[in-house]
Parts: sequence; C-alpha cells; structure tokens
Amino acid sequence: MATLVDERSEKLVYQRPEALTGSLTHYCPGCTHGIAHRLVAEVIDELDIRQRSILVASVGCSVFSYRYFAVDSCEAAHGRAAAMATGIKRVNPENIVFTYQGDGDLASIGIAETIHAAARGEKITIVFLNNAIYGMTGGQMAPTTLIGQKTRSSPFGRDLGQTGYPIRMAEMLAGIDGTVYSARRSLHDARHIIQAKKAIKTAFEAQMMGLGFSIVELLSTCPTNWHMTPIESCDWVRDNMIPYFPLGDYKVAQELAGRTQRGKHR
Ligand code: SF4
Ligand code: MG
Repeated sequence: MATLVDERSEKLVYQRPEALTGSLTHYCPGCTHGIAHRLVAEVIDELDIRQRSILVASVGCSVFSYRYFAVDSCEAAHGRAAAMATGIKRVNPENIVFTYQGDGDLASIGIAETIHAAARGEKITIVFLNNAIYGMTGGQMAPTTLIGQKTRSSPFGRDLGQTGYPIRMAEMLAGIDGTVYSARRSLHDARHIIQAKKAIKTAFEAQMMGLGFSIVELLSTCPTNWHMTPIESCDWVRDNMIPYFPLGDYKVAQELAGRTQRGKHR
C-alpha cells in the first residue's frame, strides 16, 4: 500500500485506500475524477465491502475505471451500465454493485436504462459525475451543459430554443418510487468533498440495507475541455454549476434517516 509520510514528524498524512490499485490514472491534471475515485474507494474500505463489490464501468473519460478500483469489475456498452448492473445484482444479490458514469453516458445515451433501473427499484448504486460536457470525445454539448455554455458543438453557447434545458438528474430520479436515495454534491473544494463522501457512503449503505435504487450526482470539473486552469474550473463549478444544479438530498428513505443531513448543502 502506498503511503505518504511527513518525514519531520513521521506522521502519516495520506494512505491509498485498499480499494484503489496502484495504477497511474489517465485523467487530465486537475480533473476531479481522481477525487471521486478516492472517495468511492475510501467508502468501500470503511464499509469493508471490497471483497464483494462489483464495479460496472461506463464509456467516457471513466472508461478505464476498472483499472483503478481494486474490486471485481466489468465494462458496459455505452449507456448500458445500469442495465448490466441490474443483471449482476439479480444473479448475485449478496454483492454490492455500483456503476461509475459521466453525464454523456448516464444522462444522454443511458437515460432510459437509468430511469427504468430506478423505476424497478434495482438495489444498485450509481456514482454519477456531472461535468456539463462530453469529456472523452473532445468537449461536445451534453444533456447537462448549461444554457449559454460554449462547447465544441455549441461554439456560440448552448441555445435554449434549439436544444432545450439541461437535465437535473438527481431531482428527476428522486421523483421515481423505486429510488430510495438521490443526492447531489460537489467536488470543487475540501468542505464539499467531505460532504460528497458522506453522500456516497449513504448511497452504498442504502444498497447494503437492501432498500432500493441509490444515486449520488457529483458536480465535477473538466479543465481540459472547459479551457480553464484547475482552480478556475473549481470556481466555475461554484459560480455556474451549483446555481443551476443545487446541492442537497432530494430523496432519503425513512430507513436512512439520520445517516445523512437532509436539505441543502451550500
Ligand atoms: Fe477530466 Fe475532462 Fe480530462 Fe476527461 S477530458 S479526464 S473530464 S479533464
Ligand atoms: Mg461529462
């Protein structure tokens, strides 16, 4: 296990979670995918579920996530992660099955699979990275691209009349009866990262309790395709994404009460 030690005090300041492999990731410098990976891995370690967790990786920037999580995993076709997770969970209900998906994969190509998995109350957990853009394919407009946001396929800014409104997935999925936990958090600063980890843990606990479908949407950065520095990207999440995608718990099943802080997370 890799450790980082402050040699002056010999104090351990960082330890790689057991649920992460030692592989270097392919993510761009400053991208918050790495933070999300670490949070999920820490939760898996803390819940002591690594030996029975199964990741369903998606297509997009996180396509190689199966290399980074030290759990059993498989790769779904584009948008089909929730459907594949459904099959794996039903065959092996004792396993903890989670997907890791971006907004292009989950909210566009895979929106049908996602909604129907929620409607069926599948006992799976989805970690959803929303960075308001198609990252891997070069920065095209996504279902979560903000109005006026410039992307490679909307060079003059997303036009409401032409392409409609960005989709708020956490709110929409909360409205489905089979969903037991739906929340949105952000990865743009330390305080919000701590809140994000708590939400991820609650989502996994919902599955461990056998309650139903759980999802955490994480507002994430794409400095490469936003053409910003990593710090500018974090500020952009705070100033532009959070106003349209408010943070908070949108559905918390009664059985989960007390495990998460209800309401908004400003
Ligand atoms: Fe992250 Fe964007 Fe690079 Fe993908 S393209 S790894 S989302 S910075
Ligand atoms: Mg994306």
